[in-house]
Amino acid sequence: MQIESASFDQLAEWEKELSSHYERIRQHELNLDITRGKPSTEQLNLSDKLDGILCNDYRAAGGTDTRNYGGLIGLTSARELGADMLQVPTEEVIAAGNSSLTLMYHAVLTGYLFGFAGNTPWRELKAPKFLCPVPGYDRHFSICAQLGIGMVSIPMNDQGPNMDLVEKYIREDNEIIGIWCVPKYSNPSGITYSDETVERLAQLGQIANPGFRIFWDNAYAVHDLGHYVSLASIRAATLENDTVDSVLQFASTSKVSHAGAGVAFVSASSANLQSLQQQMQTMTIGPDKVNQLRHSRFFTEFTTLKEHMRKHANILKPKFDCVLEHLHNGLAEMDLGQWEKPQGGYFVSFNTRKGCAKAVVKLAAEAGVKLTPAGATFPYGKDPEDSNIRIAPSFPPLEELDTAMSVFVLCVKLASVRQKLE
Ligand code: PLP
Repeated sequence: MQIESASFDQLAEWEKELSSHYERIRQHELNLDITRGKPSTEQLNLSDKLDGILCNDYRAAGGTDTRNYGGLIGLTSARELGADMLQVPTEEVIAAGNSSLTLMYHAVLTGYLFGFAGNTPWRELKAPKFLCPVPGYDRHFSICAQLGIGMVSIPMNDQGPNMDLVEKYIREDNEIIGIWCVPKYSNPSGITYSDETVERLAQLGQIANPGFRIFWDNAYAVHDLGHYVSLASIRAATLENDTVDSVLQFASTSKVSHAGAGVAFVSASSANLQSLQQQMQTMTIGPDKVNQLRHSRFFTEFTTLKEHMRKHANILKPKFDCVLEHLHNGLAEMDLGQWEKPQGGYFVSFNTRKGCAKAVVKLAAEAGVKLTPAGATFPYGKDPEDSNIRIAPSFPPLEELDTAMSVFVLCVKLASVRQKLE
């Protein structure tokens, strides 16, 4: 049934049926969680051989004793791993601690407090702002919110951020000093930026404030679900457009090895790396090189890492299929929502009818299924259309996900019908 063409009586009848189904489910007192994009235990187990891999041999190639202090930019072998993941030269990579989010936070602080490559620190501007493609990653937005950096939402389309709007804002406002990008299997929409989008982003350095930086968070660079989707090289595009300083690239092994104990990478021009290092050397004497060495020994070649990612895909793919099947079977014939079919990454992004997302999340919570709060994928936690919900299938076992998705679909129907009846 299409909600728009249903009569009031049909809707009332449907609401009665859905409510009684919902009440029956509530009696089961479920306790399920599809909120955060964490790897499952089964995925984490794939990397357990990291533990003990060094067999008391702590020397890296070149003789560095990794147990000791030093090596601010990381071991060469770890930097090579980051270079492979980001498809950039090793000299342009710093291998750091376990979290790329920490590196991004550090990079924003560097721009804010000191400025990149001799440019004006953002804090000296009247109203510095980041462009935020939406829906996006809530933790990016939290960094800006914490530092009082303004945020301008830019809608995503199936090619990436709406580039007409991006260029318009940058032309009109010289205090736009950054943009958050998750270019491959975007969090949460799963979209990979088109070649044209990458090219237009690379040209922004020609029209933006010289302190402007693209935060290229390639968190899902190697996270295909089976079908490989290619992403154009932003580095190559900036080289052609003479804008190499405008980009900072990030990646990590968080969703490759152990999420809380991986290695994170930043790649940038030498001027940007210098700015980052200047601040880093005050914060730390060096990263955890023992862990970096463990990772270099575990992933001896990039092909080893790619093979490892296929094992992740084998675990993840049935979970994504489960989510998509529930959405298709439960909702495809109705005008109750839209969703993407990602080829990789960690999320399925679902849009309810306008004004229904909060109600769906609330209904699901009361039936024992925890969803990411509605609005979390927007700056300041406010989705102007109250429509986007991020589904994270990776963590729960398949049977739990299956149950959680049945409840989700039911809640989407119930919230939509109740809204229509109001
Ligand atoms: N960037 C994106 C887009 C993410 O989705 C996540 C985790 O979900 C992160 C960064 C966090 O990465 P890390 O574990 O390297 O800090």
